Amino acid sequence: MSIVPESERPNPYSAYGAHGSVLVLNSGSSSLKYQLVNPVGGEAIAAGIVERIGESSGSVRHTYAGNTTERELEVPNHAAALRLALGLFDEIGPRLADAGIHAVGHRVVHGGERFSRPVVIDDDVVAAIHELVPLAPLHNPANVQGIEVARELLADVPHVAVFDTAFFQALPPAAYTYAIDRDVARAHGVRRYGFHGTSHQYVAGKVARVLGRRVQDLNTIVLHLGNGASASAVRGGVPVDTSMGLTPLEGLVMGTRSGDVDPAVVFHLARNAGMSIDELDTLLNKRSGVKGLSGENDMRQLRRLVEEGDEDASLAFDVYVHRLKKYVGAYLAVLGRVDVVAFTAGVGENDARVRAAVCSGLEGLGIAVDEERNAARAGEPRIISPDWATTLVMVVPTMEELAIARQCVEAVEGLQPSAAVPAG
Ligand code: AMP
Repeated sequence: MSIVPESERPNPYSAYGAHGSVLVLNSGSSSLKYQLVNPVGGEAIAAGIVERIGESSGSVRHTYAGNTTERELEVPNHAAALRLALGLFDEIGPRLADAGIHAVGHRVVHGGERFSRPVVIDDDVVAAIHELVPLAPLHNPANVQGIEVARELLADVPHVAVFDTAFFQALPPAAYTYAIDRDVARAHGVRRYGFHGTSHQYVAGKVARVLGRRVQDLNTIVLHLGNGASASAVRGGVPVDTSMGLTPLEGLVMGTRSGDVDPAVVFHLARNAGMSIDELDTLLNKRSGVKGLSGENDMRQLRRLVEEGDEDASLAFDVYVHRLKKYVGAYLAVLGRVDVVAFTAGVGENDARVRAAVCSGLEGLGIAVDEERNAARAGEPRIISPDWATTLVMVVPTMEELAIARQCVEAVEGLQPSAAVPAG
């Protein structure tokens, strides 16, 4: 298999442009990221971020037509943040009235068992996202706030919720069920949900398109390695396993999250270190991962420490890679046949050393990286495995905002989900 040049690839989204642009909003607890996206070509027409919402000094950065405007100012809440962003569209451009906004897409972290696809938002959907707060206490409240403010300020266009968990609602029961008392699990929604679904779905689909294959014919392992990190096994476009669970804490070693640990670590520390539930939550989510082991959560800083001979940083890197390799091996077994291993997100797209370390020693399984191909830098999807390898190793930049924008068009127009669109 090889990459089909872009000019020879059919674009299944070419009709989406008739619907104008999509404003994608990603509300965090103290930030609001936004991007105005062209759903056909995928380019960001304008993008920005409001940070430190609710603090005494906040900031906004707005980029349009190659120019970035930055300002420091107090932003009391999400309503003020969105008003600020809308004001910058008017002041610096592009004017939203001229951009022909077709829909506003909201990234929502937890959709529970209720949402397996994007939905056009009405009051019932807002209430349902609110009901899911116990499953995502840090994320869903900010998402609800962002939705409520945006529906008020941009009342003339449909708003769509795109859930991080939706893609993984198709997991088989054997993969999503925890082996704990079934009554307790059912009563409290305890199961594996999976996260980063928009990215895993986009990358699995993109792999097929750039190779000129149908997504239904490919088995892919997607490694989304950013500050948060997750792995998935995708058979014919349908997920069959993923590393994140009830929350984004399970699975791979991340920037500040531990990933898999023996759950008894929690009981042990509660009993012997007198730590409260909240302290343990903070320990495993914010003070663990490569940061917990080395003091640095950013892979670039970690690598700098490794090069300076820092032993804690070396161990952190080794633990990170070891866990990743275990997941690749597990998903090889789950899938039986793997056509592509795809690296994506900040670390996966940029760190050649991580990619080489994960694949080293797997030659006997048909997986390897070619040193020169791996070292080359490009913003486009590319193959980094040698010609003899039976599994392609690829770097595929993720574009979550674009994926959200296309899913918005599909939800509003009632079109087929994009992952099912064959490459032709
Ligand atoms: P993301 O969450 O996808 O934005 O990824 C963020 C992470 O990507 C950061 O914490 C960095 O560790 C990592 N990253 C970004 N650029 C590079 C790079 N050039 N080399 C290594 N890691 C990088």
